[in-house]
Formats: sequence, C-alpha cells, structure tokens
Amino acid sequence: MAYDKNNIFAQILRGEIPCRKVYEDAFAFAFEDIAPAAPKHVLVVPKGEYISLHDFAAHAPGAMVKGFFDSITRVAAKLGLEESGYRIVSNHGPDAAQSVPHFHVHILGGRSLGGLLP
Ligand code: 5GP
Repeated sequence: MAYDKNNIFAQILRGEIPCRKVYEDAFAFAFEDIAPAAPKHVLVVPKGEYISLHDFAAHAPGAMVKGFFDSITRVAAKLGLEESGYRIVSNHGPDAAQSVPHFHVHILGGRSLGGLLP
C-alpha cells in the first residue's frame, strides 16, 4: 500500500487544514484530536510519510524514531500528565480501526482511564 499524500494528517502537516497545535519539533507535530475521547487527547504524528507503526519502524531513520518517541514524552509533560499518568495508543490496520493512514500516536489522559479496552 502506497502512502496517500492527501490523507488528513498530511494536509494538517502542510498547513492546508487547521488544527489546534500543541507541539512541534524537527521530528513531530502534535495537535488536539477533533473528537476527544478523554479530557486531554492529543495526536502526535511524525514529519514523514509513514502509513502506520510497521512502516515507521521499518523505514524511519533511527534519529527520527528516537526523536518521535521523545516528542511524545515532551507533549505528555506539556499537557501536565507526567505525574497523573496517561495512555498512548496507536492503531494499525483494519482490526484496530485505523482511520487515518499516517502513523500517529494518541495521548489520552486527564481522568482515570480504567481498563485497557472497553
Ligand atoms: P485512528 O482511528 O486512525 O487511530 O485515529 C484518527 C483520529 O484522528 C481520530 O481520533 C479522529 O478523531 C482524528 N481526526 C480525524 N480527522 C481529524 C481532523 O481533521 N482534525 C483532527 N484534529 N483530528 C482528526
């Protein structure tokens, strides 16, 4: 499957669609989810054309992988979630209902999140 350059997150990265930006660095861009599933729900996306976790792990340079995961912890800290806790989620493929084919990690927090799955 080829990367779709017109997926929603690619358009957000290019500034073609507005978003509520939370954080940005050389490797990653983070913004509030349009349909929050928790009081704090932010999406972190790498600045590169990666469809999902498997594509990212297979093809992203090591510096990008480290930079991206560092950005997740920075965003969580910026959201004030480091002490209270939070969950990261990344959906890969149909059974996980991945709806946007640009690799992304959800950061969810701001309340007790309960069990892993509903
Ligand atoms: P997935 O289901 O692929 O893991 O997550 C995609 C997420 O993107 C969903 O939580 C959805 O609410 C969010 N989303 C979809 N379209 C937009 C958009 O245009 N702007 C923002 N900020 N979030 C979006």
